[in-house]
Amino acid sequence: MTRIVISRCLGIEATRYNGKMIEAPWLKELAAKAQLVPVCPEFEIGLGVPRKPINLVKTDDGIRVIQDETGLDLSEELVSYSQGYLRFVGDVDAFILKSKSPSCGLGSTKIHVNEDYVLGSGIFADLASKLFPGVVIVDEQYMAENGVDALLELID
Ligand code: SF4
Repeated sequence: MTRIVISRCLGIEATRYNGKMIEAPWLKELAAKAQLVPVCPEFEIGLGVPRKPINLVKTDDGIRVIQDETGLDLSEELVSYSQGYLRFVGDVDAFILKSKSPSCGLGSTKIHVNEDYVLGSGIFADLASKLFPGVVIVDEQYMAENGVDALLELID
């Protein structure tokens, strides 16, 4: 059966920093046609729900994961969890990841550079694209616009 890793806040559980989740009207149809493997990297490293938001910041040491309100640098925790998860998750046919997130966004996440920002990928999404080259990665906007069958065709 098609196996899809999905951001847990996409219609599955309210794991977002603000204690909410994103509506995903396509989820029920998808769950009938594929095995879903939910993941929430920020919850799994113990940040809790709700939590103070984290941001990606470009520094001389590379891209760091910073929780502005506490000043905590959570880079090691998030990278280490994501690497471990992705190494042991097994066969994956696709990822559906939440856009704009410092963990899950693929090419849609703000990376702060001084007073400005550029768009890049969150920590988990970036590692997923590197460790699963050629595997389909989409976000919830793709699903809302194209639907389940379009994703399954992309995978085939
Ligand atoms: S975007 Fe990713 S890290 Fe953020 S709440 Fe959703 S699953 Fe968790």
